[in-house]
Amino acid sequence: MNSFEESSTCAICGSALTDKIIDYIDHNDGHFLIVRDVPVQECIENGHQFVQASVAKKIEKLFEMDRQQVLKPKEVITVPVVELDMVSEVINRG
Ligand SMILES: [Zn+2]
Repeated sequence: MNSFEESSTCAICGSALTDKIIDYIDHNDGHFLIVRDVPVQECIENGHQFVQASVAKKIEKLFEMDRQQVLKPKEVITVPVVELDMVSEVINRG
């Protein structure tokens, strides 16, 4: 994710930007953290996402707090882990 200066067009491809609220998911060493309701700007054509520098700083801080184990999550979810080989064959009807 890229931080941005206030703009109405995508800094990467130049298409129009639209405001969106997303759940931001990332991980440190296999430990996942989901940050809910993150405001982003997304470009219409290619889905490039940008967050304001102040938002990026908050996300960075949350991950730092998570590493230091001082973050009290609002909610904890279980995420299933699978492997490709668990599916023998997928018939492609394309
Ligand atoms: Zn773009």
